[in-house]
Amino acid sequence: MKLVIFGPPSAGKGTQAQRLSQKYGIPQIATGDLLREHVAKKTPIGLKVKEILDAGKLGPDDLIVQIIKDRVSQPDCANGYLLDGFPRTMNQAKELEKITDIDLVLNIGVDTELLVERAVGRRICPKDASVYHILNNPPNAPGKCDKCGTQLIQRDDDKEETVRKRLKVYQDQTAPLVEYYRKKGKLMDIDGSLGIDGVFEQMIRAISRIKA
Ligand code: ADP
Repeated sequence: MKLVIFGPPSAGKGTQAQRLSQKYGIPQIATGDLLREHVAKKTPIGLKVKEILDAGKLGPDDLIVQIIKDRVSQPDCANGYLLDGFPRTMNQAKELEKITDIDLVLNIGVDTELLVERAVGRRICPKDASVYHILNNPPNAPGKCDKCGTQLIQRDDDKEETVRKRLKVYQDQTAPLVEYYRKKGKLMDIDGSLGIDGVFEQMIRAISRIKA
């Protein structure tokens, strides 16, 4: 099963991808997490993209496509995977088609002001990329990852000003992909204004329909 989780920044893609990955036993491939890992480790790719990410812009298509190609050819992707944060441009979508056939795109829709609230309250674990929210999904112990106890951090691109820039980039470059996948009959709309469980249930229903 090959899935894409789609939606504006901080719609809840990572949160749902983590759950779906557990439920269906397929890896979550988050280009954002992969890039942030490069930045944290100061690899050549990391040094190249740090400023781009901090400014709320998209990484270069060729680099992102290469990262995805390498990742989906790993053995754990043999039974499928879940793409989170890719494709983000029409060019990336076309490149993805050369790599594989996607079964379903889950499109999370959320109102702009709610997106800003979710991004600004987001906290992540720098070690295992778990996602929390100070109000909506707090960790058991304040500021600590439930799974590994690491001190949670705020992403550099989750400042309100950068969030609004990222939303604009999404509207300009990524939103057009929604209609592209809809025309192919591969898109399911998910109401992202509900709580985390409510969103998850809609996704499971959508997936069970393609599996049936
Ligand atoms: P994305 O991967 O789309 O950028 P995340 O999964 O990181 O989004 O979620 C953004 C923030 O909103 C996180 O702090 C997360 O805990 C919170 N969140 C995610 N889904 C919901 C939801 N359905 N209701 C409320 N808060 C949510």
